[in-house]
Amino acid sequence: MARSVIAIPEPKLEKAGDLWRLSATIAGKNVFFESRIPLSPRPEVLVCSFLMPAMAFHADLEVEGGLDEVFLENLDFVRRRVKEWWPELGGGEVRASKRASAAPGPEVGCFYTGGIDSSYVLQQLHPKLRYAVFVEGFDIGLRDEARLRLARETLGATAAACGVELVSVRTNLRQNLLFQQVRWGKNHMGALSAVGHALGSHVHTMFAAASDVPPPWGSAPDLDAAWSSGSLKIENFSAELSRLQRVDSVAKWEKLRGRLRVCLERDTPHLNCGNCEKCVRTRMQLFVAGSPDGLGSFREGPTLRSAMSDLAEAHDEVAGQWREVAERLQDRRLLRHLERALAGRRPAVWRRALREFKKLGERAAREAMPHRTAAVRASQ
Ligand SMILES: [Zn+2]
Repeated sequence: MARSVIAIPEPKLEKAGDLWRLSATIAGKNVFFESRIPLSPRPEVLVCSFLMPAMAFHADLEVEGGLDEVFLENLDFVRRRVKEWWPELGGGEVRASKRASAAPGPEVGCFYTGGIDSSYVLQQLHPKLRYAVFVEGFDIGLRDEARLRLARETLGATAAACGVELVSVRTNLRQNLLFQQVRWGKNHMGALSAVGHALGSHVHTMFAAASDVPPPWGSAPDLDAAWSSGSLKIENFSAELSRLQRVDSVAKWEKLRGRLRVCLERDTPHLNCGNCEKCVRTRMQLFVAGSPDGLGSFREGPTLRSAMSDLAEAHDEVAGQWREVAERLQDRRLLRHLERALAGRRPAVWRRALREFKKLGERAAREAMPHRTAAVRASQ
């Protein structure tokens, strides 16, 4: 039976107010990328976004307008690696004519979220970086305007302290039903590379932070590089280091004080809730790296001891990071909680009940005081 085909049109570029908007209709739905700096309407943006989602249906892509010849060749590696790591994905042939590479952009950029890994990239590479790129709509939803503003201000301050310009790119890609067919952990580098190609007239290289999650995972040095074209290089930085080694480097970096942003919790008005697994893991990493106050970036949530006593089991993807913390941890009480979580045992039932009760209370207090968020932000 012939495989199904998803059409990739040439993206449109328009100026809407003070924003440049690149958009296209894929499988009947509009996808857009917006930025204050001009974007490049290259089909590579859409192929990076939708290659893996198409593979969830064992479908191929048919691309209008031709693709950069180096990019087209690199996709062989992407497809091979994807099928090897996730055999449920298939198809993914890309039918496109070859196009000579565009002239590379003059500058170098990095993707920046404010977290440990991308802050390490900024710390190490800022003398050669022009742009730090923050994508709105990836880990903070487009409707969450208050947190987006907070993230823009905070990340912009860190970048400015390094002499680097923060560029925000807004996109509705994560809301797209086709895109959602593949888990973010598998496809986030395709999505980030899409943003890189959209900025292709400005940059010749985009650095992406290594993630310290073992394969199979959507980011690895050779897989990240395979999203490159002849004019834009996607480069994974510092995969040779563990997460804790990167934490060691940024734990006392004053430019990051009060500005680290690691939390993926949606139900918090703050930069970091201080209490989710990722917040607690980062607080513990900073603790053993000599920054017991978490670089002043976790002012909300429980004390570190209380958060550790509530810690649920450590997931496989991050168990290595927790073990790294355990090896250095000298505090016996904290170590006991950590070893329990690593052994897959959850906290006692009464602790879990208490935690849920506290969360409900915090939510009720927030809903009763709609102006609190603004007041807290103003005081930070
Ligand atoms: Zn959190």
